[in-house]
Amino acid sequence: MSVDNLLLRLDKVKPVGKCRWLACCPAHADKSPSLSIRELDDGRVLVHCFGGCSSYSVLEAIGLTINDLFPEHEHIHHAKCERRPAFTWFIDGVHIAPLLIIRAPESECGKTTVKDVVQQFVRRPLSNEGVSIAALFRVVEQEQPTLLLDDADSWLLRDPNDERHSLINSGHKRGGRVLRCVGDNHDLKAFSTFCAKVIAFIGKSRDTLHNRSIEIVLRRKMAGEKITPLRNADRSGYDTLRAKLARMEEDYLDTIANARPDLSGFDNRAADNWEPLLAVADLAGGEWRCKLRELIRSMREQDKFRRDVVTK
Ligand SMILES: [Zn+2]
Repeated sequence: MSVDNLLLRLDKVKPVGKCRWLACCPAHADKSPSLSIRELDDGRVLVHCFGGCSSYSVLEAIGLTINDLFPEHEHIHHAKCERRPAFTWFIDGVHIAPLLIIRAPESECGKTTVKDVVQQFVRRPLSNEGVSIAALFRVVEQEQPTLLLDDADSWLLRDPNDERHSLINSGHKRGGRVLRCVGDNHDLKAFSTFCAKVIAFIGKSRDTLHNRSIEIVLRRKMAGEKITPLRNADRSGYDTLRAKLARMEEDYLDTIANARPDLSGFDNRAADNWEPLLAVADLAGGEWRCKLRELIRSMREQDKFRRDVVTK
């Protein structure tokens, strides 16, 4: 979109320098122009309301979305950002970190492949392979990584005493902590456990896990189904997409932190889990809002179907 298209929708527009304008903010009762508009050399447009409105609400008031602030070729990639990996970049602005569960009923359903793709795009990915439990608690506290726990069935479903359960259960909410004794004197120390987590396993989920998570349930490819192997994918865009996600964090962390997406129709747990993802979809705007809500509807139907089948 050109900046002209934005300016046409605003009142009392006046130029205040090269590629800079002031106008009345459409998102609040604005008498003296308090919306600043700036067009950057790369074609992106920045808007800022000195009255405190978010860019998102300013654009919504005039029927535009954040995507409209990007030049045409950019916003296509921008709109393709996967919601879940995108969410991990806003971890500093959210209060709930829904777990991403990637599970399959049997082997060879592509579980590790999905995890590897997710790993490419999340913020500060850290795989737990080769990391001791003690180191895991320390690294989560210090780095707030996106923790990727692959092949978790061996402990997640079979060993209730594994210490990683407390990391998962307490780390869903901001402020979550576990107490551990450290050092020769066994001094008590509280470790923060809040971070984004991806857990991949074979088997059924449990309620405590299910309530804190968004699940991708995989199945084996059927005879006759055609797929494009990931090794043939064009990877040249990966770095660009990561760079864009990092940039989104820089530009829109406050927007996400202040976002209040429409959660009507969600019960408390579901609202907790979906809120940050809906905020990201609302930020991306346009078709993504509808797409995510449609996806949630179909996932909940499948989930209900699965539960009905299990309980009957
Ligand atoms: Zn305003």
